[in-house]
Amino acid sequence: MPHVITRHCVGTCDTVCVEACPVECIHGPIPHATLRAVPAAERGVRFPGVQLYIDPDECIDCGACLGQCPVSAIHMDCDVPGELRDDIEVNARFFGRKVR
Ligand code: SF4
Ligand code: SF4
Repeated sequence: MPHVITRHCVGTCDTVCVEACPVECIHGPIPHATLRAVPAAERGVRFPGVQLYIDPDECIDCGACLGQCPVSAIHMDCDVPGELRDDIEVNARFFGRKVR
């Protein structure tokens, strides 16, 4: 039952969750260092639509990332709100995984 990053990450994408993760299973299409180099206010404009994802096969469900997100974009997969449930598959697909 992995954790999932929903689309609410888009526009913030500050990589705070990355620092919290003990198994380095949070990644996205843009390198973390590149994201961090852009001021927060410009991130959504410079990287439209960009968000991070959690690798469902690597996540150990420790929950360390959950309370760190400033926009509450992270949920356990069983707790992802109905209108965001497609994001479970989006996270898995980013890593070429199947939804468990
Ligand atoms: S729940 Fe733990 S292992 Fe999974 S992504 Fe969050 S910090 Fe990483
Ligand atoms: S902490 Fe939240 S907003 Fe920041 S990168 Fe992680 S999921 Fe996205």
